[in-house]
Amino acid sequence: MKAIHSSQRQVQLQKFKKIFEDQKATLLHPQQVHSQDLTLGSDALSDELDLSSMEREQNLTLKLRSREALFTKKIDSALAKISAGTFGICECCDEEIEFSRLEARPTAELCIVCKEKEEALEHRVLSTEQNKKQILRLA
Ligand SMILES: [Zn+2]
Repeated sequence: MKAIHSSQRQVQLQKFKKIFEDQKATLLHPQQVHSQDLTLGSDALSDELDLSSMEREQNLTLKLRSREALFTKKIDSALAKISAGTFGICECCDEEIEFSRLEARPTAELCIVCKEKEEALEHRVLSTEQNKKQILRLA
């Protein structure tokens, strides 16, 4: 029983490893696409208006880049967990994260129960701060 379970787990891990490696490859080599976009842009658009829209695009790219960097970190930590054998284990309660949850969100670090607790806590903190502000405004 345990052997079947762990070999199933191995197959799952290999599947996730592949997903992460593919995602990382896409994240690490976007230059080709980007430079093509830029070349196309500067050929087709050349007046000042378009220059500012290009700047906007660059800002967007920067924002996107920092999100990509964060995502790359998450993927790296997930890959490290796969080799350490702790992938799919909730960081909070040490229980296995539901497989369906991992399939939907492979970089999930908390099981759904802990995630919901965390979100409830965040929500409470947020609403407490809103309450404080309201109280301050009233005072
Ligand atoms: Zn948990």
